[in-house]
Amino acid sequence: MSLVVGVDIGNSTTEACAADVGADGEVTYLSAALGRTTGVKGTVANVPGVVEVVVRALKAAGRDPAGVRAVLVNEATPVISGLAMETITETVITESTMIGHNPDTPGGVGLGVGTTVAFADLPDRAPGDAVICVAGADADFEDVAAGINAAVTRGVRVTGAVVQADDATLIANRLREPVPVVDEVTLVHRVPLGMPAAVEVAEQGRTIRTLSNSYGIATVFGLDPEQTRMIAPVARALVGNRSAVVVRTPSGDVTGRRIPAGILTLIGERTKRSVEVDAGAKEIMETWRRVRPLADADGEPGTHVGGMLARVRDTMADLTAMPRDAVRIQDVLAVDTFVPQRVTGGLAGEFALENAVALAAMVRTSRGPMELLADRLREALGTDVLIGGVEADMALLGALTTPGTAKPMAILDLGGGSTDAAVTDEGADEGAQVRSVHLAGAGDLVTSLIDSELGLDDTDLAEEIKKFPLAKAESFFHIRMEDGTVRFFDEALPAEAFARVVVLTDAGMRPIRTGHGVERIRQVRRSAKQRVFVTNALRALEQVAPGGDIRRIGFVVVLGGAALDFEIPDMIAEAVSEFGIVSGTGNVRGSEGPRNAVATGLVAGHASAHAASTAVRCG
Ligand code: ADP
Ligand code: MG
Repeated sequence: MSLVVGVDIGNSTTEACAADVGADGEVTYLSAALGRTTGVKGTVANVPGVVEVVVRALKAAGRDPAGVRAVLVNEATPVISGLAMETITETVITESTMIGHNPDTPGGVGLGVGTTVAFADLPDRAPGDAVICVAGADADFEDVAAGINAAVTRGVRVTGAVVQADDATLIANRLREPVPVVDEVTLVHRVPLGMPAAVEVAEQGRTIRTLSNSYGIATVFGLDPEQTRMIAPVARALVGNRSAVVVRTPSGDVTGRRIPAGILTLIGERTKRSVEVDAGAKEIMETWRRVRPLADADGEPGTHVGGMLARVRDTMADLTAMPRDAVRIQDVLAVDTFVPQRVTGGLAGEFALENAVALAAMVRTSRGPMELLADRLREALGTDVLIGGVEADMALLGALTTPGTAKPMAILDLGGGSTDAAVTDEGADEGAQVRSVHLAGAGDLVTSLIDSELGLDDTDLAEEIKKFPLAKAESFFHIRMEDGTVRFFDEALPAEAFARVVVLTDAGMRPIRTGHGVERIRQVRRSAKQRVFVTNALRALEQVAPGGDIRRIGFVVVLGGAALDFEIPDMIAEAVSEFGIVSGTGNVRGSEGPRNAVATGLVAGHASAHAASTAVRCG
């Protein structure tokens, strides 16, 4: 009997499996442990994380670390995923300034058109002038209301107001002739004065109609078709707001520089093709299909994609002390997305949803860094450290410990940075043909899509939205779950959850502070999972399938952290059922669920190799 520990160093998680291996190759599994991977996978920074899980697994098994014969690590060649959101449309406003936002309480209702005038200058305006009054936070709401009333009495047509403080209702309620008032305009001092402008406020529960429509703006300002074309992005950015202001400024006042998305060149082992990133994900992945297997990829310098691939290469070169041009990109995944972008020329932090392409790129380097890591582990652990086989192959061996599975079989390992697949035929262990792939894009990409599409700028919250269902706190004592059912509570819910969308985490309810409704968040969450995992599952299985025919794969076992997700395994099962494939979540060793497959496989692989060599020696 010899005590061994299999260790799987993943992008996110380091997992261990302790076991006794007999001379005949018989394995007695003792324990499992897992922890966060320290540093980038496959680099010496992993040492503390590995030491910790090894110690914990041995402790759980009640074994003395001094008795360990060998620690088996996966061939964790460093893999990093880069992510670039390439904006492929862009809102740049050159001939107007706009404010479009959803202050909690705009005042008045309707549309007002006139020339912008500072509140202090209102007394100077002549009777008959149509004006929009602009007031900073220094003006008190009572003074503003009184000033507007006085101007109106003199015959000045004050048709609307723009104010900095949160005062709109207070002002509107004091006006003799109500007009729309937009408040909470942070950059009110940048509203151009003496320019034609329009102010619109919708009734409660509605959205603006005129300023969110290009022809509405054209009508208000008397624009010709060319000018209307220029103003179209303004209308687009204002859709869905309860209030808005558009100010016409002389052309060229606000300009923006546009960085192109750029051209991505995919270099295959046999052929090479280029594709414009702004053609979208579908076109990029079609191009990938035509050149695969990928040997490297390049981005046009001076563009978004060029910058992204350069960053990936630099990071990798730094981490592994490899020359920059020895770094190769071995896979890319493009996903269509949209990003809320700050609108150039907006004055209240306005965002417009821009189409974008997210690219995950994966780099694979040589075995060098791995050997360095193994050396360091030998020193730290004081035992022999053996580098085991390819990760996906090991995952397959581990998955075969799932009760009810048999060869031929395929696995999908859904991790944090990569989606791996392997397939084996019926052959005995040593003779079995295993084919595997390692693809860019997995759980972390889903999290970043959720983060950016919902404009959260909070990865932890995005991660929770990914993992847990949503609900809306409809009263202090009940929530409506995303599936429509209602759950009641005996104790009052926390005040900050009231009337908000919440995510029901392990640790309790967490309010999501955005204007998005349950349906919207759910749709973004599910579609991000589809775009990454369903796409990658099919892409991976297609590459490992016998003869490239996915229908020849009968059974798929889904593994990895993302296999714990409450909807991803179902989405994959549904997508592959079209090809007659049965897919289910693994239960490694009958106890570990979809976790620990690679660590277990390392032990199983070591045991059978060991038995084979013993048999040779005996025979
Ligand atoms: P790796 O092998 O790359 O280290 P893992 O197999 O640990 O990765 O998987 C990590 C991914 O699994 C992360 O994206 C994480 O968000 C996701 N994940 C972990 N637990 C859950 C869960 N309970 N539900 C959904 N996703 C999960
Ligand atoms: Mg993994």
